[in-house]
Amino acid sequence: MLLAHTAAALPEMLEQLRAWVEWESPSQEPERVRGLAREVAAAFESAGCRATFHPDALELTYPGTRDAVDAPILLLGHLDTVYPVGSLPAMPFRLGEGEEADRAYGPGVFDMKAGLVQALCALQALRHSPRTTSHSPITLLFVYDEEIGSPRSREQSEPVMREARAVLVLEPAAGAGGKLKIARKGTARYRLTAHGVAAHAGLDFALGASAIVELAHRVVEVAGWSAAERGVTVNAGLIAGGTAANVVAGQAHADIDARAWTAAEQHVLDSRFRSLVATDARVRLEVDGGISRPPMEVSPASDALRARAQNLAAGLGFTLGAMRVGGASDGNLAAALGRPTLDGLGAVGAGAHTADEHILIAHLAPRAALLAALLAEL
Ligand SMILES: [Zn+2]
Repeated sequence: MLLAHTAAALPEMLEQLRAWVEWESPSQEPERVRGLAREVAAAFESAGCRATFHPDALELTYPGTRDAVDAPILLLGHLDTVYPVGSLPAMPFRLGEGEEADRAYGPGVFDMKAGLVQALCALQALRHSPRTTSHSPITLLFVYDEEIGSPRSREQSEPVMREARAVLVLEPAAGAGGKLKIARKGTARYRLTAHGVAAHAGLDFALGASAIVELAHRVVEVAGWSAAERGVTVNAGLIAGGTAANVVAGQAHADIDARAWTAAEQHVLDSRFRSLVATDARVRLEVDGGISRPPMEVSPASDALRARAQNLAAGLGFTLGAMRVGGASDGNLAAALGRPTLDGLGAVGAGAHTADEHILIAHLAPRAALLAALLAEL
């Protein structure tokens, strides 16, 4: 029943997707994202939702049909993308051809505008399905800055997350089969700066204390904290410093991304960063930054949610896998607040954040039906 509804809505879903993809919405341009929020709000309002505009997030509420004190199910997503305005001419929204006929391309199509379209379709299916006369209230929260780590929206979204009975995240599914994301690594970002003593490399070499040499030692040290078997990664992805080849470098810095599966491991890494000691006593080390998103760890409640989703998918005729992934999302924040969280309920596709970003159209209707079934059952 739900699947029949969402399958019939496929042409509408694709048209909605085109409109939202063609509304470019990079995180760095909040006004553009707010414009998209107004468009998205209007579509959800016509599906029976009420919209509230926070400074950096759109909140939509859909009334429940059970008793009034029932806590809401939260559908979590984001409206921003990583693509700057003006990306469309090079990568327009388009449907694939030939062997790629099942694909739809465009900036943000997979991460995660198709997820928003699926959520809209799920609500419409819920509304029109007689089987789903009883369900919890539903809150949808779409933030404007997820792709840059949700620095502004976090304090607006966390209170909404805290209210929720369960959190379903509309981020892209993992892999070609569209697996759920049941755990995500926690992320941290550090800037390690070495303050040395600049000097002329020919006249006063001995007076200098090279920030670059010091930083090189420390980068090798922190890289050694990576532990593949435990999934701990420390990546110095950007390094800069010095002024010229004939000057002993007075300053250098490295930007470092560190990830781990558990909060415990994340805190161990954090204290190691803060205890770094310079080899050359004349060089001063400075560590900025810290933990940005806690890990999304599997809990008994999230595991039960995973099993429920997999059963519902089986009932709809498809196999739903599950896996752990290294990338973080706002699902990490919800899970860290103790809310049972299931991520990767959005679109199936590939190429997120690249010119090849696309979704597989055949999965749109079944995934929307799965969302509707989850909303009806939870
Ligand atoms: Zn995303």
